[in-house]
Amino acid sequence: RDISITDCLFEGLADAPDRVVLIDGPSGRSLTGAALMAQVRSLAGGLTERGFGAGQVVALMAPNMPEYAVVFHAVAYAGGTITTLNPTYTAPEIRHQLTDAGASLLVTIADFLPQALAGAEGTGVRQVVVIGGAEGHAALDDLMSAPLTAQVPVDLERHIVVLPYSSGTTGLPKGVMLSHRNLVVNVDQARAVIRVVPAEVTVAFLPFFHIYGMNVLMNMHLVAGAALVTMPRFDLAGFLGHVQRHKVRMVMAVPPVVLAMAKHPMVADYDVSSLEILVSAAAPLGAELSDACAGRLNARTIQGYGMTELSPISHFSNEEHAKPGAVGITVPNTQCKVVDPQTGKALPIGEEGELCIRGPQVMQGYLNNPEATARTIDAEGWLHTGDIAAFDADGQLFIRDRLKELIKVKGFQVAPAEVEAVLQTCPGVLDAAVIGEADEAAGEVPVAFVVSQDGVKDEARAQQIIAFLRGHLATYKVPSRVEFIEAVPKSASGKILRRMLRKT
Ligand code: ATP
Ligand code: MG
Repeated sequence: RDISITDCLFEGLADAPDRVVLIDGPSGRSLTGAALMAQVRSLAGGLTERGFGAGQVVALMAPNMPEYAVVFHAVAYAGGTITTLNPTYTAPEIRHQLTDAGASLLVTIADFLPQALAGAEGTGVRQVVVIGGAEGHAALDDLMSAPLTAQVPVDLERHIVVLPYSSGTTGLPKGVMLSHRNLVVNVDQARAVIRVVPAEVTVAFLPFFHIYGMNVLMNMHLVAGAALVTMPRFDLAGFLGHVQRHKVRMVMAVPPVVLAMAKHPMVADYDVSSLEILVSAAAPLGAELSDACAGRLNARTIQGYGMTELSPISHFSNEEHAKPGAVGITVPNTQCKVVDPQTGKALPIGEEGELCIRGPQVMQGYLNNPEATARTIDAEGWLHTGDIAAFDADGQLFIRDRLKELIKVKGFQVAPAEVEAVLQTCPGVLDAAVIGEADEAAGEVPVAFVVSQDGVKDEARAQQIIAFLRGHLATYKVPSRVEFIEAVPKSASGKILRRMLRKT
């Protein structure tokens, strides 16, 4: 469709302007569709008047809150570019992103102000605006002005409307250039597979700064006529309370949330019987944990797959045809192939190799990094995901793990995700992560880091865990030892941070 992401949103809101579409979780304050559209237009007008409109980059460092959608779409409507910052970034990380993206305006909240100001120092940021206001700084409301009544014209296919950064799981986060077309197409592609019921309410705890929270949770749901209860950060009690209160049917989640729903005793204290579907994406989810969660909740756990570079979806499960462990089917208008990572040759169905994707959701490139872009998108337009995957005969995709994470044991390859999935079903284990460690005889061996469910962390327990794994996995996949840790380090998008485990 030849429309901007904001016109796409307006289209979705037009049929029921009086419906509440955004509810601030902590305060309960809400916004109707008409109010959202009016605020977007007023802020777009104000940004344009102050020289922060077309051609400018606006950085947004805020937790999930209704104003997130207002700022995001006002910048898009005014013909600008939004770069979304992870609020847990340190000042040097903020500075790097602001400089890399070329931001001229920074929008934040009072709580983040000290860190935001420190990060903005020495960058091209000319003004810092605070949502809700703060002493000595303009408030977001001060920027509201005569409304802009139409999208500022831009090349919908090429203009970069958003610069999210990749999660930085495997290295430094990369600025990903996405166009209006990328976002609009992907909202439509995801909706072709997953059903959102108009006027249903969902809980928005996945961070909007990450592409999954931004385009699947925020944009897709608003466009489809659903309402979002925003949570500034995930906490289980708060989440369960919102599900109970709003009779939530479907939630967009990540594996750590599935883990909590499957194992945490607190879940039993709430009525979550309205939940029909828990969507898990962004990191591997084992079929066993998925089943355990589904059994306890009497809801289905289905997966989606994507990456920042894909706006983000290439695969999504259809609620009727989901298979345990699969990430789903290819969304419409998308080509994919599985290739031999050594030769680049396409492999037959059923064989594992690197997943490659071609379609209108593929990014325009990495910001300021043509070399990395050329390494990722080949001359024929195929994006090389770096993930090992295989299709089954029904067209369902199974992700094994990242190519880079495979542990090479005596010439065999072990996927940490597979070992972790078995560990999560082991009695006494709450959570686990697996990394490779250099070994003279085998080249590498897997090592398991385990969070104990009951506090027992002795050698006998470690041996029980190893024995359990021997019963479920080939010998070469069984970790050489078990180490107990307090918690598995994970990113805001739910990914295990193996590089942090390697450091310890
Ligand atoms: P960086 O590229 O900066 O190292 P990242 O790859 O973690 O970080 P994202 O774009 O947020 O950044 O994540 C995309 C990756 O997430 C995919 O390449 C894949 O490895 C993983 N992923 C997404 N969905 C799934 C899923 N359902 N199952 C397994 N892995 C998934
Ligand atoms: Mg990546």
